[in-house]
Amino acid sequence: MLTASELNPAKALVNEVCLSGESWMHLIRKGQTFRIEDLEGNQAVDTLFYNAHDAEDRYDAVQTIARQRNIYLTTGSKLISTEGNVLLTITADTCGRHDTLGGACAAESNTVRYALEKRPMHNCRDSFLHALSHSPCNHDLGLTKRDITHNINFFMNVPVTPDGGLKFDDGISAPGKYVELRAEMDVVVLISNCPQLNNPCNAYNPTPVRLLIWD
Ligand SMILES: [Zn+2]
Repeated sequence: MLTASELNPAKALVNEVCLSGESWMHLIRKGQTFRIEDLEGNQAVDTLFYNAHDAEDRYDAVQTIARQRNIYLTTGSKLISTEGNVLLTITADTCGRHDTLGGACAAESNTVRYALEKRPMHNCRDSFLHALSHSPCNHDLGLTKRDITHNINFFMNVPVTPDGGLKFDDGISAPGKYVELRAEMDVVVLISNCPQLNNPCNAYNPTPVRLLIWD
C-alpha cells in the first residue's frame, strides 16, 4: 500500500548518503523512525536487523512472511524476529514492493547466476562482513559471518512465477521513492547498498541511497 510520510528530512537526527557498494550500520532506538530513500531509482538495498540487546534475536524472513501471509513488504508490514518479536513496522512506503526472497549477492552467487569470471566482483555479503569488522555498532553485539542471515532487499522487484520460480525483474522504484520503518524495540540495522552490476533490478547501474532517522 502506497503511503507518504509527514516527516521533514530537515528535522532528522541522522541524514547520510550511502554510496552503492558501501555498507552502513546504525542503532535505531525504540520509537525512532528510519527511512531509506532510493535517490536515483531501482537500487537494491540489502538490509538486516538485529535486536540491539540480543544479537541472536534478529530479522527472520520465514516468520515475517508467515505472519504477514505475504511474501512482499509494504505499509503495515511488521518485521518479525527469530524469537517472534516485532522489530519494526513499516509506516510509510512510496515504492510498494520490497523483496524478502532473493537474498544477498555473494561471490558464490555471482558465479552461479552470472559467470565464473564475476567471482571477484564486489558483492553484498562482503559488504556486510566489512561493516561487521569496521563499525563501532558491532563492538557490543559481536556479530560474525554466521550472523549474516536471510535479508530484505528494499526496492527490489523479485516476482514469483506461477510454477514457483523467482525472477529478477526490472525495478518498479524511481528517484525519491522511500520506505519508512518505526522501531518497536532498540534495533541495529545493517545495510549493504548493493554493488551488483549484473542484475536488471537496478538496470545494471548501482546508485546511492539516503538514510535518515527521526526521534
Ligand atoms: Zn547485492
